[in-house]
Amino acid sequence: MGEQTAFDFALSQLDTAAKILQLPENLLAQLRAPYRLLTVSIPVVMDNGTTKVFTGYRSQYNHARGPFKGGIRYHPQVNEDEVKALSFWMTMKCAVVNLPLGGGKGGIIVNPKELSADELERLSRGYVLQLYKYLGPDQDIPAPDVYTNSQIMAWMLDEYEKLVGHHAPGMITGKPLSLGGSAGRSFATAMGGVYVLEEVMAKLGKKPKNTTVAIQGFGNAGSFAAKLLFERGYKIVAVSDSQGGVYNIDGIDPVKAEGIKKQGGMLGCYCLGTVCSTEEMKNLDGPCHPVTNEELLELDVDVLIPAALENQITKENADRIKAPVILELANGPTTPDADPILFGKNVLVVPDILSNAGGVTVSYFEQVQNASNYYWTEAEVLIKLEKIMKDAFHAIWEMKERHQIPMRTAAFVVAIGRVAQAMKDRG
Ligand code: NAD
Repeated sequence: MGEQTAFDFALSQLDTAAKILQLPENLLAQLRAPYRLLTVSIPVVMDNGTTKVFTGYRSQYNHARGPFKGGIRYHPQVNEDEVKALSFWMTMKCAVVNLPLGGGKGGIIVNPKELSADELERLSRGYVLQLYKYLGPDQDIPAPDVYTNSQIMAWMLDEYEKLVGHHAPGMITGKPLSLGGSAGRSFATAMGGVYVLEEVMAKLGKKPKNTTVAIQGFGNAGSFAAKLLFERGYKIVAVSDSQGGVYNIDGIDPVKAEGIKKQGGMLGCYCLGTVCSTEEMKNLDGPCHPVTNEELLELDVDVLIPAALENQITKENADRIKAPVILELANGPTTPDADPILFGKNVLVVPDILSNAGGVTVSYFEQVQNASNYYWTEAEVLIKLEKIMKDAFHAIWEMKERHQIPMRTAAFVVAIGRVAQAMKDRG
């Protein structure tokens, strides 16, 4: 048998939850494939006058609860299987936080770093030209994902509005504030994770003070998580990025770490060009040590936050994880074969479809604000986000307790139960 794909993983998660829910066969069959999978060819005139044809996808997985929702990824490894899996997980994520939205995902096979800004704009507009009949505030609402950003969303919105002939800011989220973006979107994913962690801590009877945290990844999700947790009194003892990491038992100030990273300078335990360049760190004495990304995962800390890449905690290293709590800010950082090992060790894995759902929740808020053409303050956004994240946490915790199952399975049971209910009600 060949290696399991992302979509195989998704289907096995679906089957596990379906068994617990005793889901009728007809509903399960519908949930095992996307409602619609679109593949398009996008011809782009390159700066040198030649034409290159790119392949794009949009997987519209399920829309029983509302319009399809999910990001667009620009990456050389984008493929049909991955887009399908990601659109399934978006369906689950939106249902976990009880948003009136379905799930979708898109992508283009491209290395955007090889394109000029003009070529990137033509590619983004070309994607919308091919797909606009299937997009829109009431149909399918894309957003940024890996290697796409607010500028790309702005081009896509502009192209869409030209094609349909009217304003429709709610057709896409993650827009610049000038075009109807939402306050608070930049740190929404991390903030949502922090709200969830606060509830976990309350359940475990722990206080932020002296709770040590290691964070893998110092990008949008990881760096905001570090700063928000530091502000709340947690002790950040390790951070890393693609170049390596730093571990300091006395604690790390993430704002300082970020400043140093930006300046490319070195101060005490922080080093050149990154949160840590291991070469400089090797000879340092004292509590401060360089760590590799692999070592960071196995540190003796209270909370581990993978916030970088997929497939970081696997059956190879799961047994060596010492943190009793893992908050998954990245998508898919734990492979399915690692889950039973962690459950057996009593490690509480707070799953990605809950922990990082703050991002899509504020995307939904963006759409609501666009629809009413009335904009909220950051404080208003955060109050609403906190309630949604905490309600979702409690629904999942209760399910986990009732069936004595891992939180990930509980999250899928809650989500699939909600999607199945909407499908049933539609008849
Ligand atoms: P980002 O590009 O802003 O940051 C990624 C970080 O990971 C960078 O610090 C990078 O240096 C680091 N990294 C890259 N390769 C690494 C490696 N081999 N080892 C350790 N670190 C490495 O991305 P992001 O938006 O922060 O996303 C991170 C994860 O969070 C992804 O899985 C993403 O899908 C997920 N996520 C993000 C959001 C969001 O709103 N940003 C929402 C939901 C999920």
